[in-house]
Amino acid sequence: MLLGKCIKCGREAEIRLRSPLVKFCREHYIEYVERKVRRVLEKYHMVKKNDLVLICVSGGKDSTSLLHIMHKLSRDMKFSIMGLTIMLSHEEFFKKAVNTAIENYRELGVDYVLVDPLKEYDINLDRLIEARIRRPLCSACGIIKRYIMNSVAIEVKATKVATGHNLDDLMKFLFVNFVSGDIEQLIRTAPISITERRGFVTKIKPLAECSEREMIEYAKAKGLKFIRAACPYKKLGMGDDALEFLNSLDERYPGLKINMFRIYMSKIHPALRSFYRIEEVSLRRCKICNMPSLGEICSFCKLRILVRESRA
Ligand SMILES: [Zn+2]
Ligand SMILES: [Zn+2]
Repeated sequence: MLLGKCIKCGREAEIRLRSPLVKFCREHYIEYVERKVRRVLEKYHMVKKNDLVLICVSGGKDSTSLLHIMHKLSRDMKFSIMGLTIMLSHEEFFKKAVNTAIENYRELGVDYVLVDPLKEYDINLDRLIEARIRRPLCSACGIIKRYIMNSVAIEVKATKVATGHNLDDLMKFLFVNFVSGDIEQLIRTAPISITERRGFVTKIKPLAECSEREMIEYAKAKGLKFIRAACPYKKLGMGDDALEFLNSLDERYPGLKINMFRIYMSKIHPALRSFYRIEEVSLRRCKICNMPSLGEICSFCKLRILVRESRA
């Protein structure tokens, strides 16, 4: 199928997307995505010169692409990067994902930290499943990931933690948090976290303005090694249906999805933030692990207690 000409160089285009409307040869498509990520880093003041950015790599297409893009931008923008990969389970899928992440670190010569929460904290996905906790698995897994990201960042003195969430992920979170009325989570759904003052290392999402489709095409165009399958425990929910609907609207009205996100960030998010002032909630330290926490005991330590009790 002929796609027409690359709008940059006039050669035969290899990648064509409808929303945003782009038509590029392979080389110029890669350049387009990298430039887009750079603009997001600048727009949201995500990185400063001399920052050490801890990049969380699962081995999937988004975080693997993020690693390659940040590696490239770090040289131009004068910040450093380090990788973090968490062995969430000892099942085959997760071992493969971890090995894929490590292959990418080695290929780029990026230093990395590998954490096995089972060894360090006696908790991981396998333990959560055995314990049959009531909380949905993805949300419990999220607690483990966020806790490790923050503690490793503190340990290696990283100034930022970057994750591979893309525009589709953010739109899905916005929808779910809006429907459930979870204002605090809604405010937290942003390309850069606002919790620095509360003792957490600032989290950034440099792919916030790149759609799922754009990231798939990027990983393919770069010929990256990544795990294609989704997490075997992933459960599709209402957010995924909402996203499907939003994507079909975006097909009919190209640009709708990114415009909604930009309007949210420029007009709605600042209003919610100044009205609810969640960053002013006072921070405590967890009685057990001494990490920043909202309650007496942090959610990670609570989860560990649940798992321990289920095994007793
Ligand atoms: Zn071109
Ligand atoms: Zn704790």
